Amino acid sequence: MNDRLNVAIVGAGIGGLSAALALGVRGMNVTVFEEAVSPREAGAGISIPPNAVTLLKRAGLCDALEKINTRSQGLSLRTSQGGSVSTPPASVAMQSYQIHRVEFLNMLLNAVKATVKFGHRCIGVNETEIGTRLTFANGAVHDADVVIGADGIHSIVQRQIGLAARPTSEGIVAYRGLAQSQKLSCAAGLRGLNMWTGAGRSMICFPVSQGRLINVVAFVPSSRDMEETWFAPGDINALASEYKGWDAPVQDIIAALDQTFRWGIYDRPPLPYWSSGRVTLLGDAAHPMVPHFGQGAGQAIEDGFALAILLEHARHDEIPSRLRAYQNLRLEHTSRVQAASRQAGRFYRSLGENPSERAEEMREWMSAAAWIFPYDAEEAAAAMLKACASVMVHPRYR
Ligand SMILES: Cc1cc2nc3c(=O)[nH]c(=O)nc-3n(C[C@H](O)[C@H](O)[C@H](O)COP(=O)(O)OP(=O)(O)OC[C@H]3O[C@@H](n4cnc5c(N)ncnc54)[C@H](O)[C@@H]3O)c2cc1C
Repeated sequence: MNDRLNVAIVGAGIGGLSAALALGVRGMNVTVFEEAVSPREAGAGISIPPNAVTLLKRAGLCDALEKINTRSQGLSLRTSQGGSVSTPPASVAMQSYQIHRVEFLNMLLNAVKATVKFGHRCIGVNETEIGTRLTFANGAVHDADVVIGADGIHSIVQRQIGLAARPTSEGIVAYRGLAQSQKLSCAAGLRGLNMWTGAGRSMICFPVSQGRLINVVAFVPSSRDMEETWFAPGDINALASEYKGWDAPVQDIIAALDQTFRWGIYDRPPLPYWSSGRVTLLGDAAHPMVPHFGQGAGQAIEDGFALAILLEHARHDEIPSRLRAYQNLRLEHTSRVQAASRQAGRFYRSLGENPSERAEEMREWMSAAAWIFPYDAEEAAAAMLKACASVMVHPRYR
């Protein structure tokens, strides 16, 4: 019997490092393996939703988060021509944290009680009589009691447990970039979460790095298949032509970008299972979702914190049933979030330009998904653990 489980995590992205943080706080021995030779998040911003912020703060990151957060000052939604669309007053935008991705990952790296090994590309996961064995492209081998695949949308661990998520193109591409606020005469008006929608397109921007930079994400229709990667360069002129004639700040923001990256947006149905024996998945490896609700990273963070509760004090022989309990809890929840994100995408791709109709449409889908923000993943996992004492596995996923 081992009180201190040895947990191996594949992938040092937001999901992998958040899980390492949560598992470390609960006393497990954690080793994280990352294929990149050094931390390499592409420069861009991310909005961390309140359901994830609560968990990170509870794990002791309150001050660290406040330091890198750029406090949001409301939500402004406009049509392509600048018509103001009224938004829900107690908007979630006020509670989300707007952060530069690199600053966020560095904060997690500094906080984790784990060994993080860069330059380790996982190529194999095998279950042995007593645990699991990971193999890496550099020849290294690592044995652990539990393996967590946090290796993103093209997960190798997902394939190793017999799964293959099937992508369907949404027919849009996301351009992402950062503009320096000092280059923008409209920067003072961009203190919160700003969105423009219309003509099947949308642009979202918010300040990060204490307002020094404006993070930009612009979704445009595309008939071409595009890679899902943070590193594919985009063409600023092509982006500008997509927004020709739009509200002046939209055109000014695009003109202020030094470079842009493009990410093809694909949707995937929920996977049939996440866990097999002593191996499980989290984050994009488990539930890739379209990004229109800003919940991908939020759900990855929830996964890690729920898993930590469910693995804490687990005996070695209990690991498979604890991982199934984790799957049962999280698969259902994240499937609903995936569906809400899909619904949000319809709103952002609309051709509608009438401000009052847009306000009503937004109110409808936001209120239908309001349950996402107050959800407490640790509380839910603790309740699941309690229920597991009598019934370990939900019949639906047996
Ligand atoms: C345009 C866009 C905007 C978004 N905006 C938001 C937002 O505002 N808020 C939000 O919550 N979410 C947002 N998301 C979603 C969010 O970025 C992802 O859901 C989140 O990054 C997933 O984290 P992850 O750790 O699961 O995966 P990843 O971030 O993909 O990390 C996986 C890690 O695993 C490593 N890896 C991969 N394969 C291997 C291997 N074989 N061996 C070892 N390491 C490996 C990778 O190098 C990487 O470091 C957005 C997504 C997009 C596309």
